[in-house]
Amino acid sequence: MSEFGPQVTWIDEIERLPNTCITCGMFTDRLVKTRAKQHHQKMVPASESNSMQALGCLLHLLGPLGLIIDAILRHGANGNKTIEKTVVSKSRVRVPCCPLCASQSLPEPEESDIAGGKYAFQTHPRFKERLRVIRQQTAEETQPDE
Ligand SMILES: [Zn+2]
Repeated sequence: MSEFGPQVTWIDEIERLPNTCITCGMFTDRLVKTRAKQHHQKMVPASESNSMQALGCLLHLLGPLGLIIDAILRHGANGNKTIEKTVVSKSRVRVPCCPLCASQSLPEPEESDIAGGKYAFQTHPRFKERLRVIRQQTAEETQPDE
């Protein structure tokens, strides 16, 4: 990919963004809301896993005998045991996008850090350049006067 092609840029959801379409680089003052998803690996107690719950329900249907088997199984499974489960977090993020590009396809993040409020988008080089300028200005504004 050449350096003039689309580039991935991390955008902070609270930062000031340029009036530039993220897709085509033309002026726009429109923001579109787009969906962001993030997959995490989460450790959960094994007894809370879906398979154990399903088994538990099934055994409860058997009546008292099922309850005994269930108790034995849970005891045998060891309460501290955990399993890894994939969970998906969803969020929405606003980015500048002109009506023409938005009508074709909404920009979607390549990667998301929902907890950190940061999203990686394919951006037009002009968008990236203007964002760099804004970030520089913001950094200068926040610097204390000598
Ligand atoms: Zn556009």
